[in-house]
Amino acid sequence: MAKKQKKSGSKSSASTSGSTVKGGKPSKAKGTPAPKRMVYCFGKRTDGSGSDRALLGGKGANLAAMALMGLPVPPGFTITTETCNWYYDNGRRFPDSLGKQVRDGMRAIEREVGKRFGDRRDPLLVSVRSGARDSMPGMMDTILNLGLNDVTVEALKRATGNGRFAWDCYRRFVQMFGDVVMGVQKKSEMDHEPFEEVMDGLKREVGVSEDVELTEDHLKELVSRFKDLVRRWTGKAFPEDPMKQLEGAIAAVFGSWNNDRAIVYRNKYKIPHEWGTAVNVQAMVYGNMGDDCATGVAFTRDPANGENVFYGEYLVNAQGEDVVAGVRTPLPVAHMAKDKLLGKSFKQLEKVRKTLEKRFGDVQDFEFTIERKKLWMLQTRNGKRTALAYVRIAHDMVREGLMTPEHAMKSADPEAMNQLLQPVFERGAYEAARKAGRILTKGLPAGPGAACGEVAFSASRAEELARQGKHVVLVRIETSPEDLRGMIAADGILTTRGGVSSHAALVARQMGKVCVAGAGEIAIDYHAGTMTCAGRTLREGDFLSINGTTGEVIEGRIDTADSELKQVLVAGTMKPRDSRVYQDFEFVMGLADRHRRLGVRTNADTPEQVRQAVAFGAEGIGLCRTEHMFFEGDRIDAMREMILSRDTAGRERALAKLLPYQRSDFEGIFRALEGRPACIRLLDPPLHEFLPHSREAQQDLARKMRIPAEVIERRVAELHEFNPMLGFRGCRLGVVFPEITEMQVRAIFEAAAAVEKEGIRTRPEVMVPLISFRRELDLQAEAIHRVAKEVMQAAGRKFEYQVGTMIELPRAAVAAGEIAETAEFFSFGTNDLTQTALGMSRDDSGSFLPRYQELEIVKDNPFASIDAGGVGALVGMACERGRATRPDIKLGICGEHGGDPASIRFFEKVGLAYVSCSPFRVPVARLAAAKAAVEQGTSPKKGKGGKSKPAKAKAGKSKPKSKAGKSKGKAGKRK
Ligand code: PEP
Ligand code: MG
Repeated sequence: MAKKQKKSGSKSSASTSGSTVKGGKPSKAKGTPAPKRMVYCFGKRTDGSGSDRALLGGKGANLAAMALMGLPVPPGFTITTETCNWYYDNGRRFPDSLGKQVRDGMRAIEREVGKRFGDRRDPLLVSVRSGARDSMPGMMDTILNLGLNDVTVEALKRATGNGRFAWDCYRRFVQMFGDVVMGVQKKSEMDHEPFEEVMDGLKREVGVSEDVELTEDHLKELVSRFKDLVRRWTGKAFPEDPMKQLEGAIAAVFGSWNNDRAIVYRNKYKIPHEWGTAVNVQAMVYGNMGDDCATGVAFTRDPANGENVFYGEYLVNAQGEDVVAGVRTPLPVAHMAKDKLLGKSFKQLEKVRKTLEKRFGDVQDFEFTIERKKLWMLQTRNGKRTALAYVRIAHDMVREGLMTPEHAMKSADPEAMNQLLQPVFERGAYEAARKAGRILTKGLPAGPGAACGEVAFSASRAEELARQGKHVVLVRIETSPEDLRGMIAADGILTTRGGVSSHAALVARQMGKVCVAGAGEIAIDYHAGTMTCAGRTLREGDFLSINGTTGEVIEGRIDTADSELKQVLVAGTMKPRDSRVYQDFEFVMGLADRHRRLGVRTNADTPEQVRQAVAFGAEGIGLCRTEHMFFEGDRIDAMREMILSRDTAGRERALAKLLPYQRSDFEGIFRALEGRPACIRLLDPPLHEFLPHSREAQQDLARKMRIPAEVIERRVAELHEFNPMLGFRGCRLGVVFPEITEMQVRAIFEAAAAVEKEGIRTRPEVMVPLISFRRELDLQAEAIHRVAKEVMQAAGRKFEYQVGTMIELPRAAVAAGEIAETAEFFSFGTNDLTQTALGMSRDDSGSFLPRYQELEIVKDNPFASIDAGGVGALVGMACERGRATRPDIKLGICGEHGGDPASIRFFEKVGLAYVSCSPFRVPVARLAAAKAAVEQGTSPKKGKGGKSKPAKAKAGKSKPKSKAGKSKGKAGKRK
């Protein structure tokens, strides 16, 4: 579909006066009135402002903001995103009144620059660019130099006195328009761009290697060949009428919202498809009129590592696209200071750098052009950055008072925190590679981290290898948006052309991919499937290692080691003061803790995991899956003995063997928690999961237990579940075999008593899984309270504890009001709740969910991101009903969704007390919780400090409103 739409980029039949454009989605809302105002000017007259992102897109809003700040912005106008949406909703047709508004907008530009569109003497030329609410770098289309034709090109020549320049503009325009609007594009990723091929052919014929060596006559010839190419390819002549060109370009930009790569990008970054793009039409300024001209892209700070340096690059005598396309390798922006012709502009740029950060309160990524020494600002936006840069920039700019802490939270990409945990090259292995002379070359460090994998020369090959579970380094001369899928699949990206603002670098940085760009000493031959450097040749499938922090490209495999953050927080092999990244990370996490309302706990089953999670900031255990403890060492034998026992006495004998193990596990966990709460779930999985399934293993167990193998075989068959996860599991085990529950809670309470005796506070929360009926919980709670009382009596001390349940079945959500009579807390088991609410097994849904996503039946995988409308509604209902019965009921979530930023946003909305996730996702959850709170206006803005502290102990005991079924939990006094 997307491919087709891309081709339907050839929409030169589109018209701003209401004609229908073929192709595209069926109309959703035919006949809806068109928006009244569709065009907003910027320049001397500026209609919009920086806060109109939703309507004008990020680029349009910021152009308005810069114009209002008095920065030099070429005048133009923005066609709103609403217009784009109307266009799609009405069968890809322009609203009738758009034509007039566009013409008025053109007149405003003409007035400001003193030139006329299509003028035969001194024509106005414009650029037409996309601009969505959030930037989608390089994903949509752009057309420059629009308004040129065989007549105006000569006028441009006369007006500028520069024939070469005029014809160079024209050839660029024909190329861009032919590609974007008329669909003259390469057919496979191994092909060259058709226009580039024609140009290379001409260069060969006339014996030049660089574009700038082509003379005016060469360029004239090139335009003629380009037009022939367009005619051959499309059967149509290149349009000469500037207004028709403008209509086609606007339609193409709207159309590019739905091209393949834009859709892939939006899916990856969860940008709503409904937003639509704005279109910016702007007077052209030229960076290619001579050596006193340039064009560049700059960041106000280094977006790869966050350092406070002016970072960027420029090309002398070039147009903007040359920088981003990575076709020529540009110069670092600092070089400009020494340039005789451009030195003044550099000074001006340095000022602009400061002004922008002050005005926007964040690092800016901006494009500029210098036309005959005059600086023009073409766009600015918040710069995309790596996680490393994010923490450093947040740290520095918040401290410098340039960025608000709220903005630091709002602009966070919590998921990216994982990048900080990514490995680096193992020092010894790296040194060995260096000594062995395996370092092939050094490119630009464009995306930090270490990656090692098999070489793939195409995006499709990278995807294929990744599907086979292999690690991949995608190696390309340069990347283009078509390579996006391959870039997602690869561990690292290496390009041989292009600078740190090239497409490869931009995209890699945003994705958190390791990337080395512009390693110009490497020669790639796509057809032969080889890369050659330093006298060595590597083929597809050979191993290659790249270091995106230093830019090194290394032949072969290099082992990796823990990130600095892990070395400080987990392994303790590095001191906090020696790690800048750790310090920045801690600062950001401190901000997050002050801004979040949600608590963050962890899903952990061992003291080691607890310690890791606490180091990452966890405030307690949200889910301890006790069954995991039965698999260690020879405990499994006692467990199996218990399962195979036919009577209570036999089960009790086996359980008695397990009790000491469980007790000591819990002791370890309580100690590691140092007073933080521990939500411990009683046995949950179906028993057959503990039994051996292969014949040999069954025979082996039979020998050990001295029973016939058939007994085991029979029991395995009996326990086999026909409906995965709907069988004899969860509280059903404890209800039918209460001795299992009794053993587990005895272990918990005895451990608590022992650890309390050591002076360490314990706060067990005993959680009963898979409840449907209140009576199930009542029966289990009764056993729990009885054992608690016994243990307290025997130990001669009281301890606090709570009894609650998981809400993971739809009936439990519905009956939550009743269940809360007994339960002191709920923890939503959204894994099971998703599978039971949707009737989809969490184990096999992978076989059809991708198709469901493609068909937009579900937006995201509901097992990864909560299905807010269905499962989320059940959660919301259970919260309401639970609170109605017991106003201070503690509500948490421990399914996988607890570490997913989008789900966390939802849990903030329903007001849960905490989320729980795996130890390594704790930083993600802390930041996501802060971001959600700031966005939703629920942030408590905790006092100063910034260190995560254990959750405060809640005094007293939670009580249901009604008398009936009052909790029998007896909180002992805290020691
Ligand atoms: C759940 O169902 O969400 C849950 C946490 O339990 P488990 O994944 O162990 O079934
Ligand atoms: Mg569950």
